[in-house]
Amino acid sequence: MTKQNTGQSKQSIPVFLRFAPNSTPQGACQSQPQIPYLHHDSADPCHLLLPIYALPRLFPRSPEVGAAHRNVLQSDQAEYRTSRQSTLRFFYKPLTSSLNSFPTYNPRSPTQKATVMIVVMEQNAPNQLIENVANRITELGLKAHVIRGTERTVIAAVGDERKVKVESFESFPGVCEVLPILAPYKMASRELKPEATEIQVLGFKAGRGSVGVMGGPCSVENEDQIVACARAVKQAGATALRGGAFKPRTSPYSFQGMKEDGLKLLDLARQETGLAVVTEVMSTEDVSLVAKYADILQIGARNMQNYRLLEAVGRSGRAVLLKRGPSASIEEWLLAAEYILNEGNPNVMLCERGIRTFETHTRFTLPLATVPYLHRKTHLPVIVDPSHGTGHAYLVTDMAAASVAAGADGLIVEMHPNPEKAMSDGYQSLDFPQFEEMMDRCRVIANALGKSFG
Ligand code: PEP
Ligand code: MN
Repeated sequence: MTKQNTGQSKQSIPVFLRFAPNSTPQGACQSQPQIPYLHHDSADPCHLLLPIYALPRLFPRSPEVGAAHRNVLQSDQAEYRTSRQSTLRFFYKPLTSSLNSFPTYNPRSPTQKATVMIVVMEQNAPNQLIENVANRITELGLKAHVIRGTERTVIAAVGDERKVKVESFESFPGVCEVLPILAPYKMASRELKPEATEIQVLGFKAGRGSVGVMGGPCSVENEDQIVACARAVKQAGATALRGGAFKPRTSPYSFQGMKEDGLKLLDLARQETGLAVVTEVMSTEDVSLVAKYADILQIGARNMQNYRLLEAVGRSGRAVLLKRGPSASIEEWLLAAEYILNEGNPNVMLCERGIRTFETHTRFTLPLATVPYLHRKTHLPVIVDPSHGTGHAYLVTDMAAASVAAGADGLIVEMHPNPEKAMSDGYQSLDFPQFEEMMDRCRVIANALGKSFG
């Protein structure tokens, strides 16, 4: 019985099984007498039902399932959906990810309607077959995103799932299988794209074995300052220059940034050094202006849920550094990334910059478990900002080193020729020697992990 049938408030856990060609779930059920727990759902031929207590017996060698099982014992039912082709196998990925998200994920909640499935193409499927599937998805009124990985090509169909009959795609030539995506975020999820995304902009590289560093002042202040910073950043071995030209300040009386004049100085610093330029864009109207000068558009913490702005940077053609809102959950943050990805921009980096807690000894609280957690959930590179995350220059180098050790794909660090005189965030900015020392320490750690750094 499912939650729907019983009317119980407890949630059911979706898990996926795969079946041999030409066997129906019902047949598979009968042919697996060693799994007496499986029940056929007469209401829906594509569903098999399994009591939750059967999980550890079915997956005795999976410690993850064992642990997850303890968490879900309160629930009496697990629901197993099936796809109709291929051999009887437990499909571990969705299984573990769906169990991990228990209890917040409810597969039958109305919000899950908006989406989606992935069509996995056979290895080496020719382009024509990939296009056929993508065109059909578009004809159905859904968005088709073709994602070419090293191992396989998948096509994500995003939109209203009521428009799609899963079976209709399984019979397309070149299609290996069709799977729903369980995570509420789709394009960002590892289910969709198991291999990590690498983002490369000029000499800056983040992800898949590269740790990219963006250094520079909080605000662009004048030509001497930004050019001196750019030289020191390059000298220390980093590959991107940060610098705010449009500044989101808590007080309207604080320095608001040099705006377009600041962008021009960033452009000049890039011409001098060849560094990639990352700078914040605060509003939708400014996207085309900022994109004209910047290589990477930064969405600031305060704007993480400005959805029109996210869509606009999604259409800008520039890579995006999406900072976490100080009070945003990781799921909200990934859904914000989804807005950008859903506009067809695959170059999104997530930046942990600290969250608001009861603690006051640091400006924000910098949760580094975010890094390995995100690596499990998403293929997007994860950058850490130890400057805003701590609010104290003397904590920055240690937290930068810890971030790299935790697996961060990049760092964004504030530095200034003369931090005491900085027009914003001087107290958390490194001076040039400190920046160089931070780079040297982090490089050793990155190299020990077999990664390139800079
Ligand atoms: C910044 O990078 O200077 C900045 C304002 O960051 P955040 O949006 O994370 O506060
Ligand atoms: Mn700042």
